Amino acid sequence: MERRDFIKGIGLGALVAGLGKSAHAQEAKALEKAPEIAPANYDFKITFLGTSHGRPTLERFNSSTLLEFGGKKYLIDAGEPVSALLIRQKISPADIDGIFITHPHGDHMGGLLMQFVQMASFGGYKKYKDRPCKLFLPGEDVKSNIGNAMRAMGFGRGIPGFCDAIGFGEGVIFEDGGLKVTAIGNDHMARRADKTARAYSFLFEGAGKRIVFSGDLSNKFDFPYGVIEPSLDLIVCELVHFPVKLVVEGLRDKAIKHACFQHPYDHYCDVVHGKERFAAFAKQLTFPAELVDDGTVRTV
Ligand SMILES: [Zn+2]
Ligand SMILES: [Zn+2]
Repeated sequence: MERRDFIKGIGLGALVAGLGKSAHAQEAKALEKAPEIAPANYDFKITFLGTSHGRPTLERFNSSTLLEFGGKKYLIDAGEPVSALLIRQKISPADIDGIFITHPHGDHMGGLLMQFVQMASFGGYKKYKDRPCKLFLPGEDVKSNIGNAMRAMGFGRGIPGFCDAIGFGEGVIFEDGGLKVTAIGNDHMARRADKTARAYSFLFEGAGKRIVFSGDLSNKFDFPYGVIEPSLDLIVCELVHFPVKLVVEGLRDKAIKHACFQHPYDHYCDVVHGKERFAAFAKQLTFPAELVDDGTVRTV
């Protein structure tokens, strides 16, 4: 999809910062005229369920995102209260085909246990009989720890049998139905003694589109620069663990068509000054960017 189509696709209500620059003036005009309907010709649909960092706010729950592609539904992270947020979107927790966890911090997987419980209560044992839900956890140790937590909660003997749990490392971790997912390690959590990562970014590729989910990054802003080329249709990036000047410098003139920032510094959420503070940051970027909220939907 061309950049202009993408911009149209994100809808009239989107806050697209940086559009005042001459390079973006045409898009701004197109945006004004864009109808307030979702485009029919998208490949990925992304619903931001929870967009906060470790502490939920009056308007933001912990991190979880629903990604839809090729008739399948995937979760990226499962912060609290992900299963309840799916239900409020009128989506059964047992309709999730795969779950990708970026790293073992509570704000990114604190809702996982209740997600399992709700998958079961919404008929998961029957629904997943022939095709288990793929559960991608960052490392074998996380897999066994989650199993222990399920036992501690008195829910069965570990990760439920309708989940196919995979403790992944760096590289391609999933390829199915035209969707390919690559995990790229970062230093948000220190590396293990054997130098393998504990925290990951993900690259999703399908139908010729490419999307990066940053997960949480280190204070050096170790974005997965190596997968930007040839271009990214969208980045979904956290915005709390590093000075934002590293984002401006690191991503300057990179082939990125649009950015959705989430997991933001509190001062971007301030009801009086938040929007202007974010706009001041975003206008330094060389691509359109927005700060997404819980419930924001975007298509690519
Ligand atoms: Zn986090
Ligand atoms: Zn974290």
